[in-house]
Amino acid sequence: MVRVFWLLLAPLVLLASSVETYKWSEGESYLMFLERLHLPQALYYDIDSDDQKLTEELRTGMPYQVMHDSNGTIEQVLIPVSDELQLHLYRKAGTFAFEAIPVIASTKQESITLSIENSPYYDILKATGSRSLAHAFVAGFKNSLNFRRDLRKGDRLVMVYTQKYRLGSPFGMPELKVGMIEMRGKRHSVYLNSDERYYDEKGRQVEGFLLSRPVRNGRVSSGFTLRRYHPILKRYRAHLGVDYAAPRGTPIVAAGSGTVIFAGRTRGYGKLIKIRHSDGYVTLYAHQKAFRRGIHSGMRVKQGQVIGYVGSTGLSTGPHLHFGLYKNGRAINPARVVQVTTKQLGGKALKAFKGRMASLDTQVEEVLAHPTEAVKVETIDNACYIDPESCRPLKGGKINETHQ
Ligand SMILES: [Zn+2]
Repeated sequence: MVRVFWLLLAPLVLLASSVETYKWSEGESYLMFLERLHLPQALYYDIDSDDQKLTEELRTGMPYQVMHDSNGTIEQVLIPVSDELQLHLYRKAGTFAFEAIPVIASTKQESITLSIENSPYYDILKATGSRSLAHAFVAGFKNSLNFRRDLRKGDRLVMVYTQKYRLGSPFGMPELKVGMIEMRGKRHSVYLNSDERYYDEKGRQVEGFLLSRPVRNGRVSSGFTLRRYHPILKRYRAHLGVDYAAPRGTPIVAAGSGTVIFAGRTRGYGKLIKIRHSDGYVTLYAHQKAFRRGIHSGMRVKQGQVIGYVGSTGLSTGPHLHFGLYKNGRAINPARVVQVTTKQLGGKALKAFKGRMASLDTQVEEVLAHPTEAVKVETIDNACYIDPESCRPLKGGKINETHQ
């Protein structure tokens, strides 16, 4: 009986509500967002400081969903802040409630093979619609091969990668597992190892970007986590960076050379500097006591150059540096990248890598033997800013990620 009731009701529910996907607008803060959608400001001021800090992680282009009821009243909003955590604003007892909940996504392994027409970057982008994939492939070979000089039209490339899907659309960065390019009949490959770094056939690390520690003697007091469950608070948390505890006034150095893209004050991160580096990397230095004199947005800084001093500005409980690292806008674990020299695998590690390499090479052979057309992803570029007229509603009328 109960089941029949729901079957009858379900179509009504679908008709009654609508879900739209939008992209987070450039320059919009969470508070501005609340105001624009006429949502209560308590959704910021009444949440705790850890959650407030999360709202500073919202970034341009991130797809989010708004669900309206039949009267056009907002029922729920889902905004991802990382690949694993999202903000859920929802109607409850006549007002709105806030919670941070896991992103529900499934991961698929995909592969493509292409003949070079133009350049690896352009051809991958054209075939897949994904800038991230094109970027991941090119970055892996940047320091060892000269595509422009040595590549010929018709040379083949293969990529095996994983992609997350959320609400039916690709979500987050695809992760390259193995990339192979044939140049003048010779194959060159890069492999993702179990340490989550890329290596060539000889076990030499190929990543072109090395970061140094932003504070010399700082102790890591809190590590990076995309999502963790707090058993006492019974809530989800994220810490999209690494905290280095250090005395107030300790110099902070640029972890890599680049251009300062932000030097100013934010509520959550206090005095904050962001630096853009090559290959889509951005570093973030929060809670500073003061900036070094003369530091301003737009200036070039060198790796190791002092940019500011450890403090406790913003939502902070004691002097420390919150250091964040982003690749193409996505928070990644700085511990994976911070190091001084590239690694050459040896001994056991090399042996394990060779085993992994053999299995990935088999996958490449497989793709070469049975080439598949690239599945061109409908990227979030097709979603829209807050303009209901041109929006592409999701299938169904329910944000089905809502957890109970
Ligand atoms: Zn922190």
